[in-house]
Amino acid sequence: MNALTTPNPLSTQAIQALDSAHFIHPFTDHADLATRGSRVIVKSEGIYIWDSEGEKILDAMSGLWCVNAGYGRKELAQAAFDQMMTLPFYNSFFQTTNVPAVKLAAKLASLAPKVGERSFEHVFYSSSGSESNDSNVRMVRRYWDLLGQPQRKVIISRHNAYHGSTMAGASLGGMSGMHAQGDLPIPNITHIDQPYFFENALPGETADEFGVRAARWLEDKILAVGPDKVAAFIAEPIQGAGGVIIPPASYWPEIQRIVDKYGILLISDEVICAFGRLGHWFAYEKFGYKPDLVTFAKAVTSGYIPLGGVMVGDRVAKVLIEKGGEFNHGYTYSGHPVACAVALANLEIMEREQLPQRVKDDIGPYLASCFEAIGTHPLVGVAETCGFTAGLVLVKNKASRERFDENLGVGMMCRRHCFQNGLIMRAVGDRMIIAPPLTMTHADIDEMMRLIRQALDLTLQELTQKGLI
Ligand code: PMP
Repeated sequence: MNALTTPNPLSTQAIQALDSAHFIHPFTDHADLATRGSRVIVKSEGIYIWDSEGEKILDAMSGLWCVNAGYGRKELAQAAFDQMMTLPFYNSFFQTTNVPAVKLAAKLASLAPKVGERSFEHVFYSSSGSESNDSNVRMVRRYWDLLGQPQRKVIISRHNAYHGSTMAGASLGGMSGMHAQGDLPIPNITHIDQPYFFENALPGETADEFGVRAARWLEDKILAVGPDKVAAFIAEPIQGAGGVIIPPASYWPEIQRIVDKYGILLISDEVICAFGRLGHWFAYEKFGYKPDLVTFAKAVTSGYIPLGGVMVGDRVAKVLIEKGGEFNHGYTYSGHPVACAVALANLEIMEREQLPQRVKDDIGPYLASCFEAIGTHPLVGVAETCGFTAGLVLVKNKASRERFDENLGVGMMCRRHCFQNGLIMRAVGDRMIIAPPLTMTHADIDEMMRLIRQALDLTLQELTQKGLI
């Protein structure tokens, strides 16, 4: 009898062996994984997950920035079950539609705030953030073609941005490791530097001065490319996968001035930041800028089922719709009825429990006060939060803010201490980041902070023992 047909639950070792033999994981060094074996996650409830050895782990990353409503929501399972029994699938090509997709589009339009003359009445669906950003590239180019400006092809993005893993998504992203492996970026995508104050500010420069200077890199790039060739600028409101990089308050207003001056489209990639993460349904509202397209995915279903899409602002929708002609783009699962039904149920939970509002008024400020306190830890150079996400930088010398040698992998060392002590926290270089479920109580936050402090203490101890600090 082989491992798959045995009536007994598989042992951790058996699952790891099958995993290693058959499963190619995303963003994973498989030679390394094979020597250690995957951690097998078997169940979840609330803010916790459990592994196959029975270890209970506080998930301070909400899965992968997505389980905003927390684990164990029976309503979402019920919504999926009911919809599967009614209509598990039908496409939305060929002049057909389905009820959950229509209802969700209307719901999302009602949640997306109008800014100035910009409003969002239309949604294009996909199944992920990456597909949504591919759709953005197609839509932006179609828009300029329809307006008789086909030479406007260049999309400007930022180094250390993350916009997905497909060819266009990875090209829009600014991850050098991804570009190096795929002959990327594809043509007509170019990057400017990120607004990372801690790393890039000049001596004596204030955050606001730096924010304006960083935004003006966009203007420099537009002028270098040629203003008549630039189609759009894409950015995350705060950079998530890049390490929770929070721009100074002066950054977004200056970006808005520049995109307005040159008439280029603004794409707000809110795959992480929408649906309450920053205390609003959509994050552009927090920063007060006016995007033309808004990418979403992840928390629209709290990650219970794949769904993504683009909120299409009136400026673009009008041209696509009124000028007519077929937009030759779409996915089998665009407007998948089960995914849309789960999203509707998820948004209902978020509304009922006022999760965005809680982040804004209650747990966001509480997390900020906790991070201010942890900022005094000897290993922490800076600790900052935005809504219900946070990052801290591990430094060798607190006074001078001297960083560790990258090759030491201090972030990974800290992450290992987190994992071994029942906490999921992510390391991006030497930046430790979290994005916990928005359902956390103050007591949950206290427990998370206790675990974070413990991991920092253990990391400091290890660094001291090894003579690295
Ligand atoms: N954009 C942003 C801002 C993201 O954070 C991510 C995923 N972390 C993506 C796009 C890609 O989404 P997906 O993995 O669903 O394709």
